[in-house]
Amino acid sequence: GRGSGAELLSGASVKALLDSVDAFLFDCDGGNPIAGVIWKGDKLIDGVPRTLEMLRSKGKKLVFVTNNSSKSRSQYADKFRSLGLSVAQDEIFSSSFAAAMYLKVNQFPPHKKVYVIGGEGILQELQLAGFTALGGPEDGEKRVQFKSSGFFEHDKNVGAVVVGIDPSINYYKLQYGTLCIRENPGCLFIATNRDSVGHMTDLQEWPGAGCMVGAICGSTEREPVVVGKPSTFMMDFLLQKYHINTSRMCMVGDRLDTDILFGQNAGCKTLLVLSGVTTQSELEDSSNRIQPDYYTGKVSDILELLGE
Ligand code: PLP
Ligand code: CA
Repeated sequence: GRGSGAELLSGASVKALLDSVDAFLFDCDGGNPIAGVIWKGDKLIDGVPRTLEMLRSKGKKLVFVTNNSSKSRSQYADKFRSLGLSVAQDEIFSSSFAAAMYLKVNQFPPHKKVYVIGGEGILQELQLAGFTALGGPEDGEKRVQFKSSGFFEHDKNVGAVVVGIDPSINYYKLQYGTLCIRENPGCLFIATNRDSVGHMTDLQEWPGAGCMVGAICGSTEREPVVVGKPSTFMMDFLLQKYHINTSRMCMVGDRLDTDILFGQNAGCKTLLVLSGVTTQSELEDSSNRIQPDYYTGKVSDILELLGE
């Protein structure tokens, strides 16, 4: 258990784990194609379909939690389908959806607008929740001009700025979001997540949403509300929906500072899969204070160790 260090998953402990939980929460992206979580970028991890089928056949509830805000839940459902996995939209909790639900839960007035530094996934989820969104990919085309008599106009009805991964971030968007927040102390500043890196391609890591969020922190001198992992916002939302006690849930993921901390913050059991993001030596490093309950190489070890 925790504190005394993580336990390597074994035939005996996997049985105990399955008996003690009713739901598995899966992180989606993993840093390594052999030992990731569900996928790495667009590649399915070996053995995942059989493992998920086995868990479903045992009556376990499966939920998928991703910090990647580039897609909406419906776009993720398409991605699961294209990889041959049948996952329903309401089993998916993306940080794009979490941003929209944060506004909903906090009764953000629908006549106010939301400025988005981020992708289509955030725009879709905001619109689906009934909010008016500005910005997003189309502002990626816009350019600023520095004329001494020029003036940058922004919509004064913006009451929230949502920041997520944005491959077309530019100075126009930075100025827009900055003015919304700096000129209106009541403006909400919401970050989908603060991951330092993401897997835009298979062979390299790229700057993650933490980079875009950090830019707005720098210009506004404000800190955002983070709705993705490790914040418990998504968990609270998920619990209302599924009515499962967190002590009977297991969070499975590859990052200590997002996935495992997210599970622990909520009182779940945690299973770390070793991947490019967290190595065995990092896990065993005495300076690492986040210890999962269990660790193993890959998700399909659950199936193999069970020996069924
Ligand atoms: N954000 C971006 C842009 C990513 O590319 C990724 C993973 O590749 C993540 C976040 C983390 O996603 P997850 O929570 O599914 O590991
Ligand atoms: Ca991950």
